[in-house]
Amino acid sequence: MADIIKLLPDHVANQIAAGEVVQRPASVVKELMENAIDAGAESIKLIIKDGGKTLIQVVDDGLGMSETDARLSFERHATSKISSAQDLFNLNTKGFRGEALASIAAIAHVDMQTRTASNDVGTHLKIEGSKIVSQEVVATPKGTSILVKNLFFNIPARRNFLKSNQVELRHITDEFHRVALVHPNIEFHFYNNGSEIFNLPKTKHRQRIAHIFGSRMETRLVPVNEETEVLKVSGFICKPEFAKKSRGEQFFFANNRYIKSPYLHHAVSAAFEGLIKSEMFPGYFLYLEVDPGSIDINIHPTKTEVKFDDENTLYAILRSTIKHSLGQFNVAPVLDFEHDPNLDTPYNYKEKGAVLPKVTVDSNFNPFQEVPKSKSSGGGTFQKQSTKGWENLYEGLEQEVDVEQFSSLVIESESDEQGTLYDSEQAEEHMASTFQLRRKYVVSTVKSGMLVIHQKRAHERILFEKFLKEITVKEGVSQQLLFPLELSFNKQELGILNDISESLTNIGFAFESLEHETVKVTGVPLLVPESGIGTVLDRLIADYREGYGDGSISQAEMLAEVLSRNLAVKTGEVLDQESQMALVNNLFACKEPTLSPSQKITYTIISEGDIDKKFS
Ligand code: ADP
Ligand code: MG
Repeated sequence: MADIIKLLPDHVANQIAAGEVVQRPASVVKELMENAIDAGAESIKLIIKDGGKTLIQVVDDGLGMSETDARLSFERHATSKISSAQDLFNLNTKGFRGEALASIAAIAHVDMQTRTASNDVGTHLKIEGSKIVSQEVVATPKGTSILVKNLFFNIPARRNFLKSNQVELRHITDEFHRVALVHPNIEFHFYNNGSEIFNLPKTKHRQRIAHIFGSRMETRLVPVNEETEVLKVSGFICKPEFAKKSRGEQFFFANNRYIKSPYLHHAVSAAFEGLIKSEMFPGYFLYLEVDPGSIDINIHPTKTEVKFDDENTLYAILRSTIKHSLGQFNVAPVLDFEHDPNLDTPYNYKEKGAVLPKVTVDSNFNPFQEVPKSKSSGGGTFQKQSTKGWENLYEGLEQEVDVEQFSSLVIESESDEQGTLYDSEQAEEHMASTFQLRRKYVVSTVKSGMLVIHQKRAHERILFEKFLKEITVKEGVSQQLLFPLELSFNKQELGILNDISESLTNIGFAFESLEHETVKVTGVPLLVPESGIGTVLDRLIADYREGYGDGSISQAEMLAEVLSRNLAVKTGEVLDQESQMALVNNLFACKEPTLSPSQKITYTIISEGDIDKKFS
């Protein structure tokens, strides 16, 4: 048989390697920014267009490259950072494999200008799909500028695989955060489609975090510091009350690199145990320093998971360090999980001291209309926070649904015995006979037996349909705040708020403007208590960030779901008779009463037969 083994041509090998290094535009951003840092840059500019699909440019003021180095840098395994395998154990650069530029050049159009301090003129190099198209002398500032255009131009399958610009931008932003957070001593600028989205001056860690995540972050941080023989930890944790529903702000850096470590994450969570609810995530920015020899070098270029030699010890140190910080800064309050979150002072109010009561004007107020008794009356009303958040949440519904929908249920049951849930005879009986079981279920009787409703899920279904309707038909009722509430958001959060602003407006939110970090909220949906506005928006943003973008559900559904989940009555809350009734009636007025928005069963009927069997 003839010989059949061939060496792959370089450009093919590079393309294959590129598949590993460059998964999406964000990977290019990461590699280029890391190179700039390795080159000792003090200022780094990132410019992208269309989620990085058409353009990614990184400009630095670092060492630059000579004419020969510039050309060599695009060869595979060309690196100035290590020369022997031993060097791997004392790495203090981010790159070392010499593969990034070769990989990027294999699958994009690359344009590089670079100059070292000792040269008067620089080099301008153009490469397309691994081929050098031109190399010229150029007048350029010291440092390097690399432009990467038309990513995956020669691999259409990969290009088609990319997500929307918005999603790719989010990945890029995540990479940008990870790099910028460990290098507060470097200035960063980030432009997206011509507008500057980050301008980060040289500063310290704490301020860098605040510059990235919004100034409100600064007051939320608690410092962490510990130095032992095996581990030095510094950084910050967020106070427990600012734990979020998403993993958003959780950062570990080991020896100045962003890493993922589920094990160490667990150590942090363990320190927060008892301080935050189990479904919440604590925020943290932790910078670990360990002996470089004790980390399993992440040989894989894009890998962020690392393995430490003595993980158990690190775990213990980390956990106790964080516990200590939480204790030292007195941020370990006694938490009562049964307490009503509506009684909490939201963070925006903390610093403000006592304020005059807010006055809101009910634009729908009609002095001749009978008002439900729990509702405050009068044109300008004194809005007292209900101690029972749930009643508060329900007000809008009672008003809206009670009259029409409940009565239609009764009428139906009178006219059509077969098709309804309740006996006409029992309709009345049922009105007076609901009760709550273990603060979790609402029990009532129906024609065929005993009706058991899961209060939380049922309320979610009710609110979901209400919000969905409001978003789509734009009929949400807004309660205007006489004194707008100021909330601050970071750039990324603002971006998301802008994305969903139309739907938010439809359900009753009103914003003065969504351009600056400080957002003035001038109106909120009836069901949202004023004290909960910040939390609701935070959660919306977090859930939206996580769940939306894969296109599986519509924005309206997503919003309605998040709102309903956050505003629905919880398990453990006591419902008075009136509220139990409202729950039953409003649930069966829903289009799809059987399932909660997350597709879980909302009620069950235990038939008379089943009960009989128990007595047989
Ligand atoms: P690595 O970073 O693993 O060494 P790269 O392919 O990313 O490999 O880069 C190859 C080489 O090109 C680097 O080792 C460095 O010498 C040089 N280089 C890349 N980017 C820059 C830059 N922005 N400034 C100066 N030199 C650079
Ligand atoms: Mg590199």
